[in-house]
Amino acid sequence: MRAAHHLLPTALAVAVTAVAGTLTAAVGAAPAHAAACSGYVGLTFDDGPSGDHTPALLNALQQNGLRATMFNEGQFAAAYPAQVRAEVNAGMWIGNHSYTHPHPTQLSQAQIDAEIARTQQAIAAAGGGTPQLFRPPYGETNATVQAVAAKYGLKQIIWDVDSQDWNGASTDAIVQAVSRLTAGQIVLMHEWPANTLAAVPRIARTLAGKGLCAGRISPQTGRAVAP
Ligand SMILES: [Zn+2]
Repeated sequence: MRAAHHLLPTALAVAVTAVAGTLTAAVGAAPAHAAACSGYVGLTFDDGPSGDHTPALLNALQQNGLRATMFNEGQFAAAYPAQVRAEVNAGMWIGNHSYTHPHPTQLSQAQIDAEIARTQQAIAAAGGGTPQLFRPPYGETNATVQAVAAKYGLKQIIWDVDSQDWNGASTDAIVQAVSRLTAGQIVLMHEWPANTLAAVPRIARTLAGKGLCAGRISPQTGRAVAP
């Protein structure tokens, strides 16, 4: 039912020109998802889950045919396990974003280990599976952080584009940030800003207009790939 959102404008124009009388049938029959994706980008939403924001965000993503990687904090996965399951059920992927959102480079190795290990456990216990991706809070990292992440089989994921949604970016600015993505790249967003939620339908249209689709992030390469 979301097929029209994924048709390339050029493909639609051809259809209108060639078979104007049967456009409705043509759109309904087109395998639009496969045909429209010339590349994939990684949409990421940090700092959840929550009872206040996760349901609306998941609804918006699903309504607009988007899948994303949710970098959950362990403390919130433990507090809102039903929202972790809701993320999985909505087709999202779940990554580790530490347990308490500390500045990782200010911690001892043992403290980093505890932050990562407890989050792996909390997400798995909630039904979110065992994450393979780790985003350090604030994007702050060093060799110790990376080594501990690797110990747990986690690929560190930063971002190519920062939407600045955490910093009060407008909905226009968030959409504009997503429009800068090229195939394989990853954008930083958060689950809590109202402007981010408002941007979701326009993010879907912007990506569709560029022939890009929302993909998963490969734990092998750290790049966005086909789901
Ligand atoms: Zn964060």
